[in-house]
Amino acid sequence: MKSTRKGLRDDDLFKDTYGRLKCADCEKVLKTTTDPDELFDLRTCPECGTQYKDLR
Ligand SMILES: [Zn+2]
Repeated sequence: MKSTRKGLRDDDLFKDTYGRLKCADCEKVLKTTTDPDELFDLRTCPECGTQYKDLR
C-alpha cells in the first residue's frame, strides 16, 4: 500500500482547492478510516477502492 505522500508524488492523488485529497483517476474525495491500533489513517477512494495510508 502506498502512502498518501507517495500517491501525491506519483500523481495518483491530488489536492483540490479545499485541500482535500482526491483520486486522480476518479476525482473522488478519499474516505478516511481511523484505526486507533494503527499508526496511520486509511484513505480509500470510494470509486476504485484504492487505499493509501496516511501517516499521522
Ligand atoms: Zn479512484
